[in-house]
Amino acid sequence: MLFWLDGRLVEEAEARFPLLSHSLHYGSAVFDGLRFYETAEGPAAFRLEEHIERFLHSARQFRLALPYGAGALRDAVFQTIRVNALRAGYARPIAFLGGGDMELNAVKADLHVAVAVWPWSPRLGTEAIRVRVSSYRRSSPKSTVLSAKLTGHYANSILARQEARDGGFHEALLLDHEGNVAEGPGANFFAVKDGVLVTPPAEKVFAGITRDSMLALAGALGIPSEVRDIAPAELPACQEAFFAGTAVEAVPIAAIDGTAFATAPGPVTERLKAAFADAACGRERRFARWRSVVPR
Ligand code: PMP
Repeated sequence: MLFWLDGRLVEEAEARFPLLSHSLHYGSAVFDGLRFYETAEGPAAFRLEEHIERFLHSARQFRLALPYGAGALRDAVFQTIRVNALRAGYARPIAFLGGGDMELNAVKADLHVAVAVWPWSPRLGTEAIRVRVSSYRRSSPKSTVLSAKLTGHYANSILARQEARDGGFHEALLLDHEGNVAEGPGANFFAVKDGVLVTPPAEKVFAGITRDSMLALAGALGIPSEVRDIAPAELPACQEAFFAGTAVEAVPIAAIDGTAFATAPGPVTERLKAAFADAACGRERRFARWRSVVPR
């Protein structure tokens, strides 16, 4: 695979960095992750503009002065997809500090920007997963900038995922700092209660682009939605639940600890999942603005 690194295409093996790279030690990198899907017009990146904007936002939170703007980063994503002749996959822009300064507030470390891609087909399965409520809490919005995709945030996600897997579950569900339901280690949480789609407020989670897409699709389908706190005690009164994120798209939840849902995927999850796939793969026109076809 060829990667885009600091303005040029390099072989994966060529992308080497010093052991004393700041971001390796302190989690000081920012990244993003987006999918591109095969459409009738060729590979199309899903909500590319929003992913690039978020990447730039994340970089600003860490005072990383990227030498590339939105246009150059968009081209870098296109170029990397094109040169690897991929039809569907995942693109990972990342900005990180290499060698040159091991101070926490590194001002002299080398700043690198890269885009990696790998093949990834849309998930077709509807297999539902079993989830445990994690003993780890999502970081408080007062402890970090939750809206930024900082690599350091993933220490929390890794601990929660490991704990869930050790306990024989597929995935973790983290509560927020106040004890309400927050999100999964790498995806947002949705529940359906009496026909209403509910998801926690943006300020308390990493408010994903897929989450935003699901809320927009629900609106278009006439499914009522509410953005509000969800107490764990409310979960048994819900009929459906699912995780939504770039990597998982929408994955139905069969059970959360002792609470099993009667149908997984339930009808609302199924409708949203299908609508999402249609929007991503270009089978409908209403959300055409979400697709950026890779120029030939
Ligand atoms: N929450 C967390 C913690 C995540 O890592 C992700 C994946 N980026 C999401 C939610 C979903 O965000 P998105 O839909 O933008 O991928």
